[in-house]
Amino acid sequence: MASDRENLIAAARAMAARGLSAGTSGNVSLRGAEGILITPSAVPYEELTPEMIPLLREDGSYEGRFRPSSEWRFHLDVYFSRPEVGGVVHHHAPYCTALSMARREIPGCHYMVTRFGGGDVRCADYALFGTAELSHAVLAALEGRTACLIANHGALAVGRDVFAALNAASELEVLAQQYLLCLQAGGLVLLSDQEIEEAINQFATAYRPNTGG
Ligand code: 13P
Ligand code: ZN
Repeated sequence: MASDRENLIAAARAMAARGLSAGTSGNVSLRGAEGILITPSAVPYEELTPEMIPLLREDGSYEGRFRPSSEWRFHLDVYFSRPEVGGVVHHHAPYCTALSMARREIPGCHYMVTRFGGGDVRCADYALFGTAELSHAVLAALEGRTACLIANHGALAVGRDVFAALNAASELEVLAQQYLLCLQAGGLVLLSDQEIEEAINQFATAYRPNTGG
């Protein structure tokens, strides 16, 4: 079985392979048996080896030779405030980032919006990357949701483990693309509050995880 460190590297590489992150943009973390592991700052994902992965302590200090991602604060703060979260993926994927540059949220334009916990995906207020201020803005936008956009920056998605967070990050990028295409076509029709409510219930009941049992 793959170790937590190997899973973290696999998820970071998959993020790049899926076109969600160019160069060293974005970062990935997981809450595992050792504690919180996070991608090191400014290191290309293809160069990562398990020993290079920093272990984040609760006070923001770390173990390991490589300094952690500059966004360690929001990763840590998400784990503090959301006990159910086991993985966090932050990316600068083109469509999410384009919307974030317009500081637009994703409204209830498709039932898949509810996959992220409610009737919209918010856009966090702008703050300088790598700051506690950005972490506060992200936590506020993430309230009751599993993803948010980040103004003039990108997006963030969380999940029960790092691969669930990665899949949520991919789905968010597709949703952002679809919403932008619709804006270009014109004639956007939003779902009503009742339709949003029904979609949330449908995910909780009819479309619950299919474990073969
Ligand atoms: P790191 O390389 O420090 O993780 O920074 C990338 C990034 O996306 C900052 O917001
Ligand atoms: Zn970033």
